[in-house]
Amino acid sequence: MPELPEVEHVVRALRSAVTGRTIVAAQLRLPRTAPLISNRSFARQLKGARIEGVNRRGKYILIELNAGRVLLVHLRMTGKFVRIPGDQKLPPYSHAVFYLDDDSVLVFCDMRQFGRMNLVPATQLAESAELRILAPEPFSETFTVPHLRQILSRSHRSVKQLLLDQTKVLGLGNIYASEALFLARLSPFAEAGRISQARVVRLHEAIRQILEEAIAEGSTLRIDLDDEGSSYIGSSERFWRVYEREGEPCVRCGSKIRRVVQGGRSTYFCPKCQR
Ligand SMILES: [Zn+2]
Repeated sequence: MPELPEVEHVVRALRSAVTGRTIVAAQLRLPRTAPLISNRSFARQLKGARIEGVNRRGKYILIELNAGRVLLVHLRMTGKFVRIPGDQKLPPYSHAVFYLDDDSVLVFCDMRQFGRMNLVPATQLAESAELRILAPEPFSETFTVPHLRQILSRSHRSVKQLLLDQTKVLGLGNIYASEALFLARLSPFAEAGRISQARVVRLHEAIRQILEEAIAEGSTLRIDLDDEGSSYIGSSERFWRVYEREGEPCVRCGSKIRRVVQGGRSTYFCPKCQR
């Protein structure tokens, strides 16, 4: 499942590939991809729409159209965008297809079929069911140390589980939550509400650092919509400090990294330097 940094890469690739293009025709081929819109309405509403920009909120991709409309896309497990020449056969699992005015075709492919789309008026975007529950963006001015401290202080959950809740702290999935806690030298099992001020400062810094690194690292890898499509960078291609390193030495102290299942997800941590 792509995490926030990977979605950011997809957004950047889409932005450079389709901004300024007009959708000549659109086709919803799998109704559940856009469950709130009928196939006919999808085609009618998107025909002639100009793509004015591509942005992101949480893991939602916002394809901004003219006339104040936004196509909201969530990739979920396997959703990806591919751009193909107009005369090429559609790839497998093409669930939504956008024919563009430069004779290319933007295709939303999704093998597992969990990806979702919705069309929302821009003025109602912040209040949409999808976005209104999300916590502030990690790089926004709202996400401050006092803000994080307040969020943590209200919870009896473990800090790892709280970090995974996108309505509380946005941006960290299972990989980056483990990585951020390692960087902050914080036990994943610590009760969120009992974490000291000094540790909240470390955690706040670690969250931003981990996400910044991941976005910067990914941007050196080419995401080409024309080739493999916007599939995210697999975790196996990256070096993690603790994630998927069970039994290997900690990069800081040499102790063996441990893995524990926490809330149904694997948590990786160093038992010595994360306390
Ligand atoms: Zn260690």
